[in-house]
This record gives sequence, structure tokens and C-alpha cells, in this order.
Amino acid sequence: MPLTVLVTGATGRTGSIVVKKLLQQPEKFSVRGFVRSPAKATELFGDDLPVFVGDIREPETLKPALEGCDALVILTSAIPQMQGMGESGRPQMGFPSDEMPEAIDYHGQVNQIDAAKAAGVDHIVLVGSMGGTDKNHMLNSIGNGNILIWKRKAEQYLIDSGIDYTIIHAGGLQDQPGGRRELLVGDNDQLLKHPPDGVPTSLPRADVAELVVQALQQPAARNKGFDVISKPEDVSAKVTSDFAALFEGTTPGL
Ligand code: NAP
Repeated sequence: MPLTVLVTGATGRTGSIVVKKLLQQPEKFSVRGFVRSPAKATELFGDDLPVFVGDIREPETLKPALEGCDALVILTSAIPQMQGMGESGRPQMGFPSDEMPEAIDYHGQVNQIDAAKAAGVDHIVLVGSMGGTDKNHMLNSIGNGNILIWKRKAEQYLIDSGIDYTIIHAGGLQDQPGGRRELLVGDNDQLLKHPPDGVPTSLPRADVAELVVQALQQPAARNKGFDVISKPEDVSAKVTSDFAALFEGTTPGL
């Protein structure tokens, strides 16, 4: 039987790659998307994807989407927007007042975890961000949103929920092809603070999406949280293909 998987943030830049990868393997996965814009979903996936329209701030919209699901992939996030020019003449970034990180990255994720638990979902794969150990991280200052703090709080809620989890703290996301680099995993932001020589603290969105797909299948990815970046293509000694070994090198907790 294929694994029934709900992807939230399915119309996002990483979420849509995850959906496309899952749709390519119908023998393994029966995929659904949770979206707030059905038009955007049609533009991205045509009629291929069963979609549930809702908003993660409204728990009742999550319930039907999760009914009968084995796994949930959380790829939602508050999205910073330009809010005019600051005094310095530089663009000011912020969040719409009803889409602050506390509402989206904390309460919205808690709503998803609670709804998944109620539906009997067995595994949640959550994509978050590196930098969560540093409350003074630059991303926290955007729109006074404390985005990494709220994301981390939701991740702890997931761990405490008792559902099997895989928490992926991605480095800076690039819109580049996947499957061409060596991935490096770590924890506690060590890769961010002390990246190996010549390795930027980033990786392609497509590689994160492949990690999500692999995490859904590999037992060694269960109950693990880890940071991930990639070596640039030209210095990758080998392309990561043994995901079981990669997950074996990760540890439980945040
Ligand atoms: P993204 O393109 O910004 O997508 C975010 C998704 O969340 C969108 O699909 C959006 O829906 C959805 N969403 C937002 N509010 C929602 C709501 N109230 N109800 C339902 N859906 C909602 O994401 P990304 O850039 O691929 O990033 C994926 C993850 O990686 C995020 O957690 C991000 O913080 C993290 N990350 C990002 C970076 C980076 O360099 N940008 C680095 C490390 C980690 P719409 O499609 O309708 O807008």
C-alpha cells in the first residue's frame, strides 16, 4: 500500500518540489496538498494533485486533509514581505499583522501537529531553519517577528507530542538543481558557526526536498533533528546517495 502523505505549504518553493517528487512515485506514495490558493496549485500541478484548501491558522480546515494520512510534511512558513523604505533608504522587511511568525510558525504548526495526532498520523517531517540556537540571529529581527524562536518552540512541541518526527534545519535555500552535491549534517548550529573551509552554509531546495522524501522511507530518520548544508558542486567529493547512512549520522532532539 502506498504511504498517504499530506504536504502543507504544497505551493511553496520547497513544498512544491516535495509534491512533484512524491507524485513521481505513485507505487510508494499517495500525496495530498494543503494549500490556501487552489489556483496556484492548479498552475503548479495541473489536475495531478488532490488538494485540500484551508489555512493552518484554522484547525478545522486541517482535519479533513489529515483524515486517513500516514505522514505529514510541514513546509509552511511565515513569509517576509517588503513594507516600504526604511529611514536608511533600504527596503524594510516585515510580516502582515495577521501572519506574524508567532501565528504561522508557532500556532500554525501546533495546529498541524495536534490535528495530525488526532488523525493517528504516524510520522511528521518538518523543515525548519538553522540559526535557532541564536536568539540574536538576524532573521529574528525581521519585523520583530522572532521567526527562528517561534519555529524552534514548535519543533519542541512536535518532539513532545510523541509522534515520530524528523526535523530538518536547512541552511540558506538556493533555487538550484538537486542531486549534484555532498550533503553535510550536524546539530546545534555548529555547521553555521564553524562551516568547513570553502563550504557555504546553504543548499539547494531540491536537495532538501529529496531529504524529505527519503526521511519518509528510512527508519533511521525517525526521531531525529539535524542541520544540513551542502558542499558546492565543484568541491563535492561524492554526491550523497546513501540516505540511510546520512540519517544514521544524526541524533535525536533539536
Ligand atoms: P516558501 O516558499 O516561503 O513557502 C511557504 C509556504 O507556506 C507557502 O506555500 C505558503 O502558501 C504557506 N503558508 C504560509 N502561511 C500559510 C497559512 N496561513 N496557511 C497555509 N499555508 C500557508 O518556503 P521555502 O522558502 O521553500 O522554505 C521552506 C522552509 O525552509 C521554511 O520553513 C523556511 O523558513 C525554511 N528555510 C528557508 C531558508 C531560506 O533561505 N529562505 C533557509 C532555511 C530554512 P502560499 O504558497 O499560498 O504563499
